[in-house]
Amino acid sequence: MAREKDHLLRGGIGMTSQRTRERLIERLYDEGLSNARVLEVIRRTPRHLFVDEALAHRAYEDTALPIGHNQTISQPYIVGRMTELLLAGGPLDKVMEIGTGSGYQTAVLAQLVERVFSVERIQSLQDRAKERLVELKLRNVVFRWGDGWEGWPALAPYNGILVTAAATEVPQALLDQLAPGGRLVIPVGAGDVQQLMLIVREENGFSRHLLDAVRFVPLRNGPLA
Ligand code: SAH
Repeated sequence: MAREKDHLLRGGIGMTSQRTRERLIERLYDEGLSNARVLEVIRRTPRHLFVDEALAHRAYEDTALPIGHNQTISQPYIVGRMTELLLAGGPLDKVMEIGTGSGYQTAVLAQLVERVFSVERIQSLQDRAKERLVELKLRNVVFRWGDGWEGWPALAPYNGILVTAAATEVPQALLDQLAPGGRLVIPVGAGDVQQLMLIVREENGFSRHLLDAVRFVPLRNGPLA
């Protein structure tokens, strides 16, 4: 059954073969990803369904790819790295994601946590992401068309918040919506290269950890598009 499904999802595209996917997993492991559950989820998530058909042959390269509207699907290594950081404190039940984009990071999260709340400002991207998640039968995700700077206060607090666009500063609303012990993973910076941060809500305030240099599209301000 699993094999049949995989065959269906592959749709006969040679470059999306299981072997190509295995090579990506090996590479991610070599680059330092170490959470076996995260690697397994990346292995079984058909990334080629999250990009245009014309780019499907590159879906298992460890690289960001365009998804339209000047946005990109994140690089698999970064998806894995941010997911590992989020999960490193133990299992999570409620996770908010800012920047649904293609829905690929959303799909990875949905297989590792109980519920995902995903916010995106470009409605057409989010509509397409929704379709993909339905197709993959990932039903523990709800979507909001809105501004990630504001988070999703009505459903707060969250045990984890993952932001997939670079913020010029850490949005106060996201800190406010973090549960005690909750973890926020966010790229911060105004330039082309930003700093990945892990922020943990402790009993008396927040602990902040500066991590890798990363490249993300900006977390935008202003009206929704
Ligand atoms: N995780 C996505 C990455 C998408 S790129 C993927 O793997 O496909 C970043 C996304 O953040 C884009 O879709 C962009 O529209 C969205 N974004 C940018 N600013 C935002 C904001 N203020 N609120 C919500 N989403 C935002």
